[in-house]
Amino acid sequence: MTEEKMRFEAEVSRLLDIVVHSLYSNKDIFLRELISNASDACDKLRYEAIAKPELLAGDAEFKVRLLTDNVRNVLTIADNGIGMNKADLIDNLGTIANSGTAKFLDAVSKSDNAKDVDLIGQFGVGFYSAFMVASQVDVLSKKAGEDQAWKWSSDGKGEYTVAEAEMEGHGTQITLHLTDEFKEFTEEYRLRHIVKTYSDHIGIPVVLMKADGDETLNEASALWTRPKSEVTDEQYKEFYKHNSHAFDDPWKTIHYQAEGAIEYTGLLYLPTMRPFDLYDPQRKGHLKLYVRKVFITEGADELLPPWLRFVSGVVDSQDLPLNVSREMLQHNPVLTKIKNGLTKKVLSELETAAKKDGEGFDKFWETFGSVVKEGLYEDQSNRDRILKIAKFRSTKGDGWTTLAEYVERMKEGQKAIYYISGEDIDALKRSPQLEGFAAKGIEVLLLTDPVDEFWMPSVGQFEEKDFKSVTRGGADLNDVKSDDNEDSKDEKKDDTASDASLDALIASIKIALGTGVKDVRESDRLTSSACCLIADEMGMDLRMERLMKQHNR
Ligand code: ADP
Ligand code: MG
Repeated sequence: MTEEKMRFEAEVSRLLDIVVHSLYSNKDIFLRELISNASDACDKLRYEAIAKPELLAGDAEFKVRLLTDNVRNVLTIADNGIGMNKADLIDNLGTIANSGTAKFLDAVSKSDNAKDVDLIGQFGVGFYSAFMVASQVDVLSKKAGEDQAWKWSSDGKGEYTVAEAEMEGHGTQITLHLTDEFKEFTEEYRLRHIVKTYSDHIGIPVVLMKADGDETLNEASALWTRPKSEVTDEQYKEFYKHNSHAFDDPWKTIHYQAEGAIEYTGLLYLPTMRPFDLYDPQRKGHLKLYVRKVFITEGADELLPPWLRFVSGVVDSQDLPLNVSREMLQHNPVLTKIKNGLTKKVLSELETAAKKDGEGFDKFWETFGSVVKEGLYEDQSNRDRILKIAKFRSTKGDGWTTLAEYVERMKEGQKAIYYISGEDIDALKRSPQLEGFAAKGIEVLLLTDPVDEFWMPSVGQFEEKDFKSVTRGGADLNDVKSDDNEDSKDEKKDDTASDASLDALIASIKIALGTGVKDVRESDRLTSSACCLIADEMGMDLRMERLMKQHNR
């Protein structure tokens, strides 16, 4: 039998080095990671087997088995899931396949604080965490539908081997040769405790094989199928971390059963931290679709609109056919109804939070507002509801305001909602364009998200008040009653006195600037600065112009 020796990808070696040498206190999580992989592998086979039942080869009772040997100091985790062939082993266990792991490496390399290594537990470095407790790891695997089994082995020190092997049935057996220090992981009470703590929500049985019979250690029913009253906060959180590969705690957990025309169960999480791929151009979601507990797909646009892509969790439908393929999801009327239902549910949760938990909502908005605002121009049917909860910074105070609150504070005679946009709040606050508005006591919204340039023109109004950029011409402030009439009268007097010389000044500035500007005008929008740039009334807003230039359009 030929054995091939290979080197880990450089990144993996680095990762292993961190994992092994970390003083990380909670070693238990290696088991959570391996059980989670085993359960994922069963989910994958269950899905593949819908179209190809022969893949199951009569072995349709998915299970994770734990075997211990406290004489040889060995722990084995076995599953009858999809399994891996030679190429899979090399791709999955020789490189960094998991983007969460890549992110972890990134975080660690940016800091030399040893304490940050504790992040391992939160990120979950997946398979490689086995090397925290084992001096050697053997992976014996046979892919469902194939004949040849393979054995992958490594001591986690830079190299691994792959060789042909013998195995009954399909699936994967991971054997950990524990270091003396971690003998405890062959003890039943330890395994029972770890599985209860971290893997109780796994939908398939985790079985401890003992001399006196097998013992199922977990609840083994998918968490979302259990009644709310029987699930603890801890279990919801653990499920969130497992299911979403997340390392924060959820801000909101929404668990409900939709009944009526279509039936489904939703277990949705709103995170506290941004998922790492939040701003990827693909705008992929994080919600998983199940049909009667069979995993179908993750992150489909058909499930939630992209402006809610940070929502993770599970939706389980009773009304879709089990053999629904990923392609069939498009234009599926049942799914469209589910999507509308889920979107409304999340929106009403946000509305409630905005009313009852202002501080929490503001934090949420700070983190995800820029993404939610994409819905303002992409999702006509929910635009008004989004606009009502949307929050803004403004020239009044340092907090957030809603548009309704802004409108309430509008000056007598003020017809429009004024805004200025740019990259940075503090720079915006210093803009000379704001001087005239400040003098009249008119509040201006400060917009710093690029997405604002897109929804503002398409939404146009709120409660029949137009949005107007203060960097655009024609922002006429004459109708607005001033806060301090004395002062502005004085200024007006000065202005009229200098009319003739002003014309001459404007003419000479026009000559000096030539074609660099379109026009030079007198304006009432400044009080202390001598001049400022504004955009054409009909043309683009200043920031939009800058954004377009950056993109060479
Ligand atoms: P992740 O689970 O986040 O993808 P891991 O490091 O835990 O990352 O695992 C890497 C990959 O190895 C998995 O994506 C999967 O393709 C493969 N893998 C790991 N364990 C198993 C298993 N028991 N059965 C089949 N494939 C597995
Ligand atoms: Mg994993």
